[in-house]
Amino acid sequence: MQRYSFLSLARHALSGHRKWPRALVSSGLKPAYDAVIVGGGGHGLATAYFLASRHGMRRIAVLEKGAIGQGNSGRNTQVVRSDYFHLVSSRFFERSLRLYEGLSRELNFNIMLSQRGKVDLAHSPHAMETLRRSVNAIRMNGVDAEMLGVDELRRLEPALNVNCRYPVEGGAVQWRGGIARHDAVVWAFARAASALGVDIVQGCEVTGLRLEGGRIAGLETTLGEVAAPRVCLAVAGHSSELARKAGLALPIVSQALQAMVTEPVKPLLRTVLLSPQIHVYLSQSDRGEIVIGGGSDIHNSYAQRGGLPAFEANAAAAVELFPCLSRLRVMRQWAGLVDITPDTSPIMGLTPIEGLFLSAGWGTGGYKAIPAGGETMAWTIANDRPHELITAFGLERFARGALVDEGAASGVAH
Ligand SMILES: Cc1cc2nc3c(=O)[nH]c(=O)nc-3n(C[C@H](O)[C@H](O)[C@H](O)COP(=O)(O)OP(=O)(O)OC[C@H]3O[C@@H](n4cnc5c(N)ncnc54)[C@H](O)[C@@H]3O)c2cc1C
Repeated sequence: MQRYSFLSLARHALSGHRKWPRALVSSGLKPAYDAVIVGGGGHGLATAYFLASRHGMRRIAVLEKGAIGQGNSGRNTQVVRSDYFHLVSSRFFERSLRLYEGLSRELNFNIMLSQRGKVDLAHSPHAMETLRRSVNAIRMNGVDAEMLGVDELRRLEPALNVNCRYPVEGGAVQWRGGIARHDAVVWAFARAASALGVDIVQGCEVTGLRLEGGRIAGLETTLGEVAAPRVCLAVAGHSSELARKAGLALPIVSQALQAMVTEPVKPLLRTVLLSPQIHVYLSQSDRGEIVIGGGSDIHNSYAQRGGLPAFEANAAAAVELFPCLSRLRVMRQWAGLVDITPDTSPIMGLTPIEGLFLSAGWGTGGYKAIPAGGETMAWTIANDRPHELITAFGLERFARGALVDEGAASGVAH
């Protein structure tokens, strides 16, 4: 793998940047692997990278039905943060944010992490109380968070309409929260995994799972059969459909979650700003576009488009908070298929089928979890037992009733 550095940039400038090697080697499908990851999104690729880099496994494949990053990992609004309420979530997401902070160096790829602060707004005294409780819990968990008064919010975001229909009473901020470039994260993991010998097979849809004596033996794909004693499903909105092929019923619904960007403008928004009550969140991209997201469409769907009612609600909410956006044109709107669990926490770890692992249920907030998700799933696959950071997120919690309700932390998609 060609290392990216100032020197290599200068050297390649001499040949007009025509001699850069391919960032990713395309692979064909081999008949057998030690581990196969299904799904070339951030979670699948990160899991493969950590399996190869930390556990010395070499015969690994990532099978992706389309092109890497064309699922939710390349369609999200890029928010990273670790301000979760429950200790188990907090420890996991804080580990992820820490990994994000060193990821450009680890993977030798600029993921454009911008820790500009992620602000939650409160529009009533009750919401302020809830935010205070949440900030206290987050700080008790050892994660940074603080309350903001209306005057501080005015200074931070001068264009914010604090006197909107439900006037802003205050807010809370995690300063280490922010955004990181989603395509870069996908490509950074893919390139680093490929350099370690992982086969990344694109255009390869998994159509069936082969079981022998209650354990996984291999997969059927559109490119033929493949044998593997360890298989991890990391297919987001397609998790329940694929798991059903192995007789597993998952407590997951798939819904379209949409976002949009406006035409670019000069710097207007400093932070990532989120209003759970008005139901919208916004940030400004490096190109100047205002990135707007909100809740998911209310019906289950496998269409990566999103419907007009949610689109209209997101636009109206954004204009409510920032009236100056009203005359901006929307340049693009799209959706991804999010895999939502009853407690809005992920499902990670082993399944009742030996050798079959799950990284699913990431719902509206799994982008921020990609580094720690990959790290802990790789450990779990290599050791055949759940990593200590994810024991609370196992599939069996739904049978035991030990849910990790993070509905408030992921109340607005982010
Ligand atoms: C609009 C939107 C905004 C979001 N904003 C944020 C945010 O700001 N912050 C945050 O933390 N999270 C956010 N999310 C959620 C986040 O994007 C996802 O939770 C995360 O990307 C999931 O990663 P993944 O690797 O599990 O899934 P994906 O990236 O969806 O990857 C799954 C892959 O599996 C492939 N696949 C499916 N079926 C098969 C098959 N049978 N065979 C082979 N391959 C298959 C798909 O093609 C896909 O590429 C957002 C999501 C959306 C849609």
